[in-house]
Amino acid sequence: MSSDSSGICTATALELGRRIRIGEQTSTEITRAFLERIEAVEPAVHAFLAVDGERALVQAAAVDARVAAGEPPASPLAGVPIAVKDLFCYAGLPTTAASKMLEGWIPPYNSTVVQRLLDAGLVILGKTNLDEFATGSSTESSAYGPTRNPWDLERVPGGSGGGSAAALAAFEAPLAIGTDTGGSIRQPASMTGTVGVKPTYGGVSRFGIIAMASSLDQAGPCARNAADAAALHVVIAGHDAADSTSLDEPVPDVVAAAGAADVTGMRIGVVSQLGGEGYAAGVERCFTESVELLRQAGAEVIEVSCPSFAQALAAYYLIMPSELSSNLARYDAMRYGLRVGDDGSTSAESVMRRSRGAGFGAELKRRIVLGTYALSAGYYDAYYGSAQKMRTLIARDFAAAFDRVDVLVSPVAPTTAFRLGERVGDPLAMYKGDLCTLPANLAGVAAGSFPAGRSPEDGLPVGFQVMAPVLGDDRVYRVGAALERLAGTADFCRQAPVLPVAENGEASK
Ligand code: GLN
Repeated sequence: MSSDSSGICTATALELGRRIRIGEQTSTEITRAFLERIEAVEPAVHAFLAVDGERALVQAAAVDARVAAGEPPASPLAGVPIAVKDLFCYAGLPTTAASKMLEGWIPPYNSTVVQRLLDAGLVILGKTNLDEFATGSSTESSAYGPTRNPWDLERVPGGSGGGSAAALAAFEAPLAIGTDTGGSIRQPASMTGTVGVKPTYGGVSRFGIIAMASSLDQAGPCARNAADAAALHVVIAGHDAADSTSLDEPVPDVVAAAGAADVTGMRIGVVSQLGGEGYAAGVERCFTESVELLRQAGAEVIEVSCPSFAQALAAYYLIMPSELSSNLARYDAMRYGLRVGDDGSTSAESVMRRSRGAGFGAELKRRIVLGTYALSAGYYDAYYGSAQKMRTLIARDFAAAFDRVDVLVSPVAPTTAFRLGERVGDPLAMYKGDLCTLPANLAGVAAGSFPAGRSPEDGLPVGFQVMAPVLGDDRVYRVGAALERLAGTADFCRQAPVLPVAENGEASK
């Protein structure tokens, strides 16, 4: 990267918050630096679907005015910019879910997560790219073109939240928000050398998030280090009466856990089913070395068998499309969204058919057909019913494991970032990459991805997954932060290659 004299874009989010609080830098100055960086590298990365510079600067000025007036900051992250996955309603800005179906749709209200960000004084830079309706593992199913991985522009940044992860790795934002239904926060974090946490199901409100599979969807923080992620976690987590599945429990003390970063005496279970055949040697190597670092730091490492995890892929790819197909039924061209072929003479059915045909991409259609089939009379018990039984067995495996250990660990994905186009024509190969992340969604437990170094095979980032029991989110951060300290990966993204910078854009460091 070229010079960034004020060191804004590479600073941590908490450091930026501190500078704003003590008056060393203004939120306006910081926000401008990120907007310039976005302008400079977006032609290469395409992490954003919408940049909202004007409103961001208004929000920044409001924080600066509070600081100038000597008022206490709304949170440690007040004035710090953030990027939000384009699946969250944010009044006044289009929310597309990366689909043609919602092109140009502007929500009239804020999702709870967005509202909490604004209440905490964060500055929203814009909306990030994703696979269409969050269905995918590469951002290639976005109707607006893929995002590229800042570590290697010929490779995917993972998905579905590839835009949020790439924005962090490209230093376009110090923080981002994602959602994780089957791994969409963790797998992109793994592939971009960033941190991403899927909180316990119900830990963060789903109100105002475009639904994918409601019993699995969970919003969470994305950052470049564990402490920043924890600080963001507490801003967005906590009970919300507007979401019936929101947990009415205290938010685990993830900030203290990330600060402690200590695994002495912790029992860490290595899942024997997640690894081995089919996993890249470089991924296995980084994983084994990370486990060894934790062991040397005082953790007790135990091998744990979770036999039902082998069924997670089949269970997920029945339950998720079933819920997805029902959630997508609302895009009927009658209430909002795309409407095609309505000349006043055609039937409602034909308008619906044409609109859905034009509005949804191929991957989404594949899943709608799968889900509708799995739910149809005569097949319901055989498919959806069996998948729910497998889900119960997976939850039991977790429960039995957490009787013996404090956390479970595994790779996040069997490979590092793959090449753009490599898996587009082979949906099963794409799905198989989700193997390690799906069990946590099916059981609703907390899980996160933290950098475990670079693969000796291709030099690309490898993530380390930490899973903890329901409401044990603090353990995820404790282990993740410890690994970050032991492996020296707090500033991991600085190792990424220099990105090409647009002609007239002024790059910051
Ligand atoms: N890759 C998974 C899928 O395609 C996960 C998606 C997600 O978590 N939103 O379904």
